Amino acid sequence: MPVTHAPETADALLRQDPELAEILLGELDRQSTTLQLVAAENFSSPAVLAALGSPLANKYAEGYPGARHHGGCEIVDVAERLAVERAKALFGAEHANVQSHSGSSAVLAAYAALLRPGDTVLALGLPHGGHLTHGSPANFSGRWFDFVGYGVDAETGLIDYDQMRTLARAHRPKAIVCGSIAYPRHIDHAFFREVADEVGAYLIADAAHPIGLVAGGAAPSPVPYADVVCATTHKVLRGPRGGMILCGAELAERVDRAVFPFTQGGAQMHTIAAKAVAFGEAATPDFVTYAHQVVTNARVLAARLAAEGLVVTTGGTDTHLITADPAPLGVDGRTARGRLAAAGMVLDCCALPHGDARGLRLGTAAVTTQGMGEEEMQWIGALFAAVLRGETETQKARDEVRELTGRFQPYTS
Ligand SMILES: *Cc1c(COP(=O)(O)O)cnc(C)c1O
Repeated sequence: MPVTHAPETADALLRQDPELAEILLGELDRQSTTLQLVAAENFSSPAVLAALGSPLANKYAEGYPGARHHGGCEIVDVAERLAVERAKALFGAEHANVQSHSGSSAVLAAYAALLRPGDTVLALGLPHGGHLTHGSPANFSGRWFDFVGYGVDAETGLIDYDQMRTLARAHRPKAIVCGSIAYPRHIDHAFFREVADEVGAYLIADAAHPIGLVAGGAAPSPVPYADVVCATTHKVLRGPRGGMILCGAELAERVDRAVFPFTQGGAQMHTIAAKAVAFGEAATPDFVTYAHQVVTNARVLAARLAAEGLVVTTGGTDTHLITADPAPLGVDGRTARGRLAAAGMVLDCCALPHGDARGLRLGTAAVTTQGMGEEEMQWIGALFAAVLRGETETQKARDEVRELTGRFQPYTS
């Protein structure tokens, strides 16, 4: 379902600051004429962009609706209450905090709500698909907590659930984190819950990637199992760049205080309004169709890439996300990403379960928003492999991508 209407590069900006307006138009052109296969990206609707570019951006609103540290919050309070109510209804959660500035801020707040510095936390190791906030030494998480990493099986690429349980029993973590930046399969939340209960740990689900699929009923929800669910609103969910936390009533106050005043200041009311718009969109039958099409498209694309000779991790996908090793086509991950980018196919590198070589990570959230279906996924998979094998000239591939995206514009006027 392509979104209709072009986001307006406001006349005011064009008149006042043509230099910057030119940059916005250049980025719109880049997004409209290349394939956005970065797994974490999507095209938010003109309605979401309108809320983001609204005068709500001017408002200071520290605190929560009805209890602000600033005057004049009576209208933005309504916006935040609406966002919270829509999030709770969409995900069946007792409590929602919609103020987190990003997915990382949501995770920081979850740790702040439940842990003390020095506590042990069990999470998917970074080389296996854990996020920076899951214990990277370069991140607050690795500096302030004692992280132990479970992994994925080198052969199957699937989470090693037995190892996770063994590590939990040995280390007795205060919290267990499930969630990944690259895992293409559904996570067994019930098993994580069972292990967390056995060792007396909190279960934190970092559902930054799949939360949009959960909203559309195309992936199982972590909400009934996790003590706290952290998420982003800008990936498959297709809202503004931001974060969100869902939890039960008994942790509500701790979570809210961990966001403000512990880790954040004033809420970004324009973003919160845009989150409300996105939750409204995600509650429609159209979004259910979209979420299922995202998964269908990813399955078709994964199968095509496998048929073309790439090694697709876990042999396929349950979600929007695919990781693959292009080595059998004679290129390493980094070289592959560069060649594909030159041909107009934009994606990321990632770690692979086996060995040190880099693989490719891609997703179907954005191309599905543009209205592409199975036929286009087959076409993309074929061109992808042809570019990697050096069978199609870069310029020819770039022209073909331009032609395809011309037929599936993300924003039309
Ligand atoms: C994307 C992601 C995040 C971080 O989101 P930001 O908005 O970039 O901070 C955190 N955890 C996981 C698992 C993610 O995929």
